[in-house]
Parts: sequence; C-alpha cells; structure tokens
Amino acid sequence: MSSVGKAVERPVVYLSVDVEGDCPPYLQTWRGLDEGLPRLLALFAEEHVPATFFTTGEAAQRFPSRIAAVVEAGHELGSHGLTHRNFRDMTADEADYEIASSAALLRSFGNVTSFRAPYLSFPEAFVPLLSKAGLTVDASRSAYKRQEAPYQGPDSPARLTTSVTSSVLRLPRAIRNPWFAMLTSPVSLFVHPWEFVDLRASKLRLDCRFRTGDAALNALRSTIRWFAANGAVFRHVRDHASQA
Ligand SMILES: [Zn+2]
Repeated sequence: MSSVGKAVERPVVYLSVDVEGDCPPYLQTWRGLDEGLPRLLALFAEEHVPATFFTTGEAAQRFPSRIAAVVEAGHELGSHGLTHRNFRDMTADEADYEIASSAALLRSFGNVTSFRAPYLSFPEAFVPLLSKAGLTVDASRSAYKRQEAPYQGPDSPARLTTSVTSSVLRLPRAIRNPWFAMLTSPVSLFVHPWEFVDLRASKLRLDCRFRTGDAALNALRSTIRWFAANGAVFRHVRDHASQA
C-alpha cells in the first residue's frame, strides 16, 4: 500500500464475503453456509472488524437464520444476485429481474445498498439497473481481469474495484504479505464461506481446494492483523458511496 509507513492517510480496507453455494458452478452443496459462515462471524467478532456479506437470494432463502445472524452481528448485507448465474449469459430483462428480486428478498433482513456480480462478471450496459434497484455501490470490477470501459452515466453507482482474487488470501504469508504491500488504498478483499470448510480431499480445481478449512481461517486472521498493523481502517462497502 502506498500509504504504509506514512502518517498522512491510513489505508482503507473493505473486507467482504461472497455468500453462495460451495465453489460455484462446480459443486451443488452448501457446506459453506452450514460450517464456514459461523467460523467467519466468530473470527470477525474476535478481530473486531466490520465486513460486507454479498449474498445470493438463493442462499438467503435456504439459510435465513444464518443471514439474520450476519445482520445481527452488525455487518453489511449486500446483493450477490439471485441464483449466482453469470450476468454475461443474461438478457437485460433477466438481469433486471435477478437484481430487483435479490434486493427485495435480502431487504427482508436489513438495508441493502451494495452489489457484487457473481464471478466479478458484469456487463457495463447493466450498471444502470443497479441504481434503479436502489443499489449505490457496485463492487463487481476487479484490478486483475480485463475490464470494459466503465459506464459513466449520471445514474451510475459508486464503483469499488476488487484488489485481488480470494485464493490469494490462502497463499503462504511469505508470498501473501509482499503482495498486499503492493496494493493501493482502497483495498478490497473477498472470501467465500466454503473456503473455511476443508475441501482439500474433494475433486475440484486447485484454487477451490488448496489450503481450505483451518488453514484458510488462520490465513484470514493473519491477513486482518497484517493490515491492522499497517494502520488500515476497515469499512463497510456501503461507505464507499461517500468516498468515491
Ligand atoms: Zn460468487
């Protein structure tokens, strides 16, 4: 981070969790909601950090008590679409339906103003649909994938760019920390509940299974502490609307 070691400005870190079925689209199980999510809530409580939980409508329908616990713990609830379908495979009408119905469903648990598309894959032509649904921050863009030119209309939500993909947070600290040190503020990091379930023995692509379970939890704790030691301020993604 450019501001590490300088007294002037503390780096802002947005920590988020994409709440969905296990390693989509490869698995049809929900162990992350059952086993991983409570571990994350306990970790964030121990480390006193706020997080944003981008949740699919389907996850909220299947596990309402888990989502209620997220809100109860003071975290932000955001939308991760309805079904975790890739928005690049949808018509504008389908995208409108996914965005509006997921927001409506999630709002039965609490206020929802932030959005992240599944697979960080969101056509810029659909961006105005977010404002229409009352979503004021879009966190679907990333620093590590090819991006379309950003939509610039007056009805654009604030855009928050994801800094690194989730599996980077599971790398050994000797690789991870120098990587983090190169990021610029605001830093946007995300994980998934299923990463905190031991999937090492499953037949999945490597980035879905390596160092999952306890190792992932320890790595996330160590990541939070590394940023905290470097002066980071942890914020909810919704706060980016006033920062952007
Ligand atoms: Zn996802």
